[in-house]
Amino acid sequence: MKKAAAIIFIALAALLATDHCHGGNRKDRPADYAGSRIRFKVLIHYTEYAEEAHVQFAHQTIGFFRKLTTGNGFIVDVTTSLDSYSPEELQKYDVLISANAAPQGPEERKLFEDYMENGGGWIGFHAAAYNDRNTRWPWFLEFIGGGVFKCNNWPPQPALVRLETRRHPVTKNLPKEFVIPASEFYQWSPEPKSDKDIKVLASLSDRNYPIGLKDIVYGGEWPLVWTNRNYRMIYLNMGHGDESYIDAVQQLLFINALRWIVSTNPEGNPFNDKL
Ligand code: ZN
Repeated sequence: MKKAAAIIFIALAALLATDHCHGGNRKDRPADYAGSRIRFKVLIHYTEYAEEAHVQFAHQTIGFFRKLTTGNGFIVDVTTSLDSYSPEELQKYDVLISANAAPQGPEERKLFEDYMENGGGWIGFHAAAYNDRNTRWPWFLEFIGGGVFKCNNWPPQPALVRLETRRHPVTKNLPKEFVIPASEFYQWSPEPKSDKDIKVLASLSDRNYPIGLKDIVYGGEWPLVWTNRNYRMIYLNMGHGDESYIDAVQQLLFINALRWIVSTNPEGNPFNDKL
């Protein structure tokens, strides 16, 4: 091949390779959300008034999701007070990430309920779903699958996770079993699986038992990731300490969760995914 022809061939091959990489025509490019009619909006809610390990996780969560906005990324806002938003302002967010923070007081609770009942999206980490018999928030109890805090492992430690399904956008590209970084995990009673609206995606493997050194748990169903079919929500049980973002598989799980919640927004899917 002559030199000029070789250069043209290489250039053409590179062009085709690029096109192949993205697939379809430009309009259908997945993840081209920067060019879509909306840049989706994320609001991270956290609190500085929690145990140190919960605040550490929240700070790392903010850093992690902000880093994902590199380039013409999506919008990430951060707040410690949900009630500084009007219902209309809150509704503009495609997803609310609760990083170890739960709505406080009747006004924030009502705001959250209205947001979720009107198509809002929620990713809740760890203490965001903590509730016990003193919480007295029946709406939330139903939302989360009926479970109140039962027990926990202590100290925080890594654990083997077992997927309950891979036929879900959040788990389809994850290993069937994988070890996640050190965390405290809550066990629930009754177990969320007993609620027909709950779909558990991942649980602690039985092979972890006994788990814990000080507070030891010897058995039981231990769901880690689940959704409520009636809402655009996903709960992730992990989120204690500063190690949650050191592992690629767990990071992928978190990104999958974000992508799925945003993709199912009734106002449109900025990724053009076919879910
Ligand atoms: Zn904790």
